[in-house]
Amino acid sequence: MSRILLSLIMSLAVLVANAQRICGFADYRQQIIHNTPGLADKITSIEAFTRRLQATRPQPSSNSVTASSVITIPVVVHVIYNSSIQNLSDAQVQSQIDVLNRDYRRQNADTANTPSYFQPFAADCGFHFVLAKVDPHGYATRGIVRKHTDVQQFNINDAIKFSSSNGDDAWDADSYFNIWVGDLTGGVLGYASVVGGPKANDGVVISYKAFGTMGTAAAPFNEGRTGTHETGHWLNLIHTWGDADCGDDKVDDTPPQQAAEYGCPSGIVISCTDGPNGEMYTNYMDFTNDACMNIFTLGQRERMRALFEPEGVRYPMLSSGALAATALDDTAGISGEPEAVALVSVYPNPAADLVTVSMTDQNAIGATIELYNQVGQRVISQKISQLTFQINIGTLNRGIYYLKINDGKSKNVTKLVKF
Ligand SMILES: [Zn+2]
Repeated sequence: MSRILLSLIMSLAVLVANAQRICGFADYRQQIIHNTPGLADKITSIEAFTRRLQATRPQPSSNSVTASSVITIPVVVHVIYNSSIQNLSDAQVQSQIDVLNRDYRRQNADTANTPSYFQPFAADCGFHFVLAKVDPHGYATRGIVRKHTDVQQFNINDAIKFSSSNGDDAWDADSYFNIWVGDLTGGVLGYASVVGGPKANDGVVISYKAFGTMGTAAAPFNEGRTGTHETGHWLNLIHTWGDADCGDDKVDDTPPQQAAEYGCPSGIVISCTDGPNGEMYTNYMDFTNDACMNIFTLGQRERMRALFEPEGVRYPMLSSGALAATALDDTAGISGEPEAVALVSVYPNPAADLVTVSMTDQNAIGATIELYNQVGQRVISQKISQLTFQINIGTLNRGIYYLKINDGKSKNVTKLVKF
């Protein structure tokens, strides 16, 4: 082997070994604020809301997430491929969802790698991610969209998020967490939208080389942590150094940090005024390698979950219909008997066209009443503005349907027969 070839191979090996995490969030944030009138003010008001909420809360504790307070996030993954290798398998997509579910419940195997002095701050963030089961038109889906593109590489200008620019349009961001996977320029592993930004741009973009734990995912970014990191931004987290020299990440229990850490540091690294334990370089919001990050803090959890409080930006997601098919599977058609629903009376039933729906609970006002067919497709969706009203099923095929109030809480389903 010639000496030149040998040294070329060796410098390539060094390059690969030194592959560094590049997240496009900070640059993207500047760009979208510049291009979106009013966004800076909106971010300021979201920040004020989050601060107000934090101020009125008791100090968070590690056990404050219970099974009933887990927040379920319906996900759609847009696989945008130019070459066939980028058309990732369903299994690879699921491997990324699995990582999110471990990391956001602190069920990841490497929690033991969190230094002992940071363990008291470690949080079960209480988020659960599920691929969507119902698409925006009410049809059954597996939550994965595959689309060929002529674009060889995308950058952080959001072209990947629009069909008009050879990407794929977002699904309604109030109901779905949009993830786009494709090839990105400049070694960028991923970037996330800004909370409060335009709905059509809402979601995260991840390189196919850093997505999930198998297939095209390449070391040292093949443990799904790019997904965990970018999802953190989508949930309003900022890099631990606040994208400035000893900057502010708006979270009190992450130590100040001068700048990003790369690779896989060890021991105590002091910068700014963060002694005696130094930087929390194992935080998912730092730039370390996948294998070297393993913690969100209680403060980060509170910041993320604030978005889902009433008046929070992501509150509407709690009443998403994206997983309705599951709810129907849970309750409908098993016993063959209609479910008892305290809120609703439905008559006549069976019916040919007009059905009167009546309820007594004022909380129903403002919710949506939805009718699903037997394969879980939503065929009617109607806003509830009074306690007794009619729906017209005259145009539907004969058969069995399921009526459901979508208020984010009720799981009760009433069987309705069209004849
Ligand atoms: Zn980032």
